[in-house]
Amino acid sequence: MKMQPPVGEFELINTFFQSTSRRQCRDVVVHIGDDCAVLDVPMSMQLAVTTDTLVEDVHFLPNISAQDVAYKAVAVNLSDLAAMGATPRWISLALTLPKVDVTWLQAFSDSLFKILADYQVELIGGDTTSGKLSITITAQGLLPQGEGLFRHSAQVGDDIYVTGSLGDSRAGLDLLLAQRQDGEKHYTQDERYLLNRHLRPTPRLAIGQQLLGVANAAIDISDGLSGDLQHILQRSQVSAKIELDQLPLSDELLRFVKTEKSNSETALSYALGGGEDYELCFTAPPMQAKKIQQIAQKSGVSICKIGEIIATEASPTIHYSQHDHSVPDNWQAGFDHFKSFTQS
Ligand code: ADP
Ligand code: MG
Repeated sequence: MKMQPPVGEFELINTFFQSTSRRQCRDVVVHIGDDCAVLDVPMSMQLAVTTDTLVEDVHFLPNISAQDVAYKAVAVNLSDLAAMGATPRWISLALTLPKVDVTWLQAFSDSLFKILADYQVELIGGDTTSGKLSITITAQGLLPQGEGLFRHSAQVGDDIYVTGSLGDSRAGLDLLLAQRQDGEKHYTQDERYLLNRHLRPTPRLAIGQQLLGVANAAIDISDGLSGDLQHILQRSQVSAKIELDQLPLSDELLRFVKTEKSNSETALSYALGGGEDYELCFTAPPMQAKKIQQIAQKSGVSICKIGEIIATEASPTIHYSQHDHSVPDNWQAGFDHFKSFTQS
């Protein structure tokens, strides 16, 4: 039997978002349904709070499924918490819908609660309005008092690391853009990997939490390594040396650019400017090298050293080198066009 659409806003919230069986946290004193949620914050902890919005046609294509949109809206927020070393606890959801599409809402809600359960996070409230499809999530996490990974605290002499591999997400976006033009196709195993890296980024929460007391500074890579590392440099008033040969590139990305692109530098340009990888970039003193490899081993995610923090002369700058030859500092300047519709 076809499901009847809920008649009003309250019924919609009740049907899709107010599920008592999906509660994750005992520290929620007042749940969805009152004017505010009320939360117990342990005495020894501080709150880390972040918000990210995804707007259709700006941050995601209309051909992305409700499941993928819900997953990503949560994942990008959890990635911000990961970059602070925080443990996620609660989210609120501001949802703007063009219409009440029951099938879409059910798929969205199921996928949302799935990722929330995976990370033991509870939906504690939100807002529902009508308009162009847009999803705003505010995520809150806990940090031990006085701890946290910040952008402003990189030190000269620190090594620079990244988790996982870079540039895959941009290749996945290429595939989705092509799909929009050419229609559905059968994807190869490589293509499925790249699509998954774009649609289902893994927030590096466990690594972020273990880097507390180990790393000096951190950021999550949402806009591409070159832009995001620059934020650390600006806030810390330092510069960086990056060894391009050390950037972690997946075999899938390397094969993708070989078959799809004529320019052999494309994999690097995707890694530096592609964006939406949601890996962590962090800096740590050389004495932490062993500890960092232990964290990598424990988490099953590679962590690569890609360069070091150096003193700034005129203004914070990334100095790139390749095969031990330095390349011009504006090497990546031509890649701005990769900041396509997914960047904000
Ligand atoms: P108010 O008018 O007081 O802002 P609302 O009518 O907007 O309250 O929301 C009623 C309750 O439902 C509140 O507890 C609110 O946090 C929650 N809520 C509204 N929309 C959502 C949503 N999309 N997801 C989760 N909770 C929601
Ligand atoms: Mg409201």
